[in-house]
Amino acid sequence: MQLNTKNQLQENLIFTRPSSLNARPHHFCPGCGHGIVHRLLAELIDEFDIRQNIILVAPVGCGVLAYFYINVDGCEAAHGRVPAVATGLKRVHPDNIVIGYQGDGDLLAIGIAETIHAANRGENITIIFINNALYGMTGGQMAPTSLVGQKTKTSPYGRSVEEAGYPLKACELLATLAAPVFIERTSVHSIKQIIKTKKAIKKGLSNQIKGKGYSFIEVLSMCPTGWGMKPQAAVEWIETHMVPYYALGNLRDR
Ligand code: SF4
Repeated sequence: MQLNTKNQLQENLIFTRPSSLNARPHHFCPGCGHGIVHRLLAELIDEFDIRQNIILVAPVGCGVLAYFYINVDGCEAAHGRVPAVATGLKRVHPDNIVIGYQGDGDLLAIGIAETIHAANRGENITIIFINNALYGMTGGQMAPTSLVGQKTKTSPYGRSVEEAGYPLKACELLATLAAPVFIERTSVHSIKQIIKTKKAIKKGLSNQIKGKGYSFIEVLSMCPTGWGMKPQAAVEWIETHMVPYYALGNLRDR
């Protein structure tokens, strides 16, 4: 599109809210990645025109109010039980699109059993996993995803392998299973990666619409508050610290 005037340019930069995103102030901290993923999901729900068909299963954690911000039917699961609740909903309502939205603690700590078993059964659901390398909502404690040496509220000297083991790689873990049809790790720390994240979530939704089976999208996401950093530093920390350990890319696409 040709932009001729300053006014035209400004008009095109005006924030347009996807109709699936509620006009509500959100509780996320400045620079948090959750808001970006919420917007991408809302845009895709609009693009697929499936708003009336979605059931969004929210976690315990900073993503707890996902269904409050995204204008769809929603259900709150007990801590870690998103994949189990999503399984039940999908089996009872096979024509609905069931999306699970989870963070590190919900998906990989208290909920790791549900995560593995739902993936192993190849449930026809779409799971979006927000990896910000600690527990954000409860104040920044060490998570299964915290990096070796990472200082958190419960690892003030840095995560030690001797005491806490290695950070869990959700995508690689699930890629050992036969059933999942789509597994990809993306990030929201750059425009390029945000575009890739949207594409990956789109694929995950499209797989479910086509009845293909279980799709898993992990998104590396900024948590400036938990990391004790300014938003720009948090963006850089993903690039310098998280991406070298959590390699971005597709692990499966059937
Ligand atoms: S604590 Fe972290 S993950 Fe939670 S809203 Fe704040 S920045 Fe986002």
